[in-house]
Amino acid sequence: MMLRAENIHKVYIETGAPLAVLKGVDFSMQPGEFVSLTGPSGAGKSTLLHILGGLDFPTQGKVFIDGEEVQRLNDRKRSALRNTKIGFVFQFYHLLPEFNAIENVMLPAFIRDGMSQRPMIEQKAASLLRQMGMQHRLSHKPKQLSGGEQQRVAIARALMNSPKIILCDEPTGNLDSQSGESIIALLRKLNQEQGQAVVIVTHDLAIAQQAQRCVHIQDGKITNSN
Ligand code: ADP
Ligand code: MG
Repeated sequence: MMLRAENIHKVYIETGAPLAVLKGVDFSMQPGEFVSLTGPSGAGKSTLLHILGGLDFPTQGKVFIDGEEVQRLNDRKRSALRNTKIGFVFQFYHLLPEFNAIENVMLPAFIRDGMSQRPMIEQKAASLLRQMGMQHRLSHKPKQLSGGEQQRVAIARALMNSPKIILCDEPTGNLDSQSGESIIALLRKLNQEQGQAVVIVTHDLAIAQQAQRCVHIQDGKITNSN
């Protein structure tokens, strides 16, 4: 199993009365799967995605990425694991505004391999942007790009270190329907043609239904999974 989460509980306590968001969630994923994650607003979808990707810790329970228990790693090893095995795509893209498109895409590889590898890294980043239909936007800064274009750059960045899994948190949530559809089409293509495993959080049922497997969270638990 490439990704496995066992009996995940999450209680937020920073805000006064403890808020139990996840109450015993099990989730696992095989290579090449395309899974949708749905649930009402506030159900804990983002929380679960962050825990699955090692961005946040569960209050109780374990997460394994490629057999490594995430919580047992120190900060440096956990960052390295995340950087190489997981790609994140967010609703608001989270591109660095002062860097252009290709620089944003190269960043995860600079973090992993250092600047000395720049020619190879640059070649790969350009090729990913080409794959995303963004070959004519390499030098554009995020604010010079449309939302859909920024999301394409963000997907290229997520793929830079060839992660086994990309975790997408409402990737079309801020896009018009046409740009949203083209982003979903890209993710499906990556999944079908390259076997890229994808988890996509969405509240759009038409998108969720395109997944091989639909997982629904409600009241802190997974209520269906097929
Ligand atoms: P979803 O993505 O399904 O809309 P989230 O995972 O973002 O839900 O949030 C689940 C619940 O946890 C919400 O009620 C939210 O307000 C709360 N929450 C999220 N993050 C925090 C935090 N850092 N501290 C306290 N409460 C939080
Ligand atoms: Mg969310």
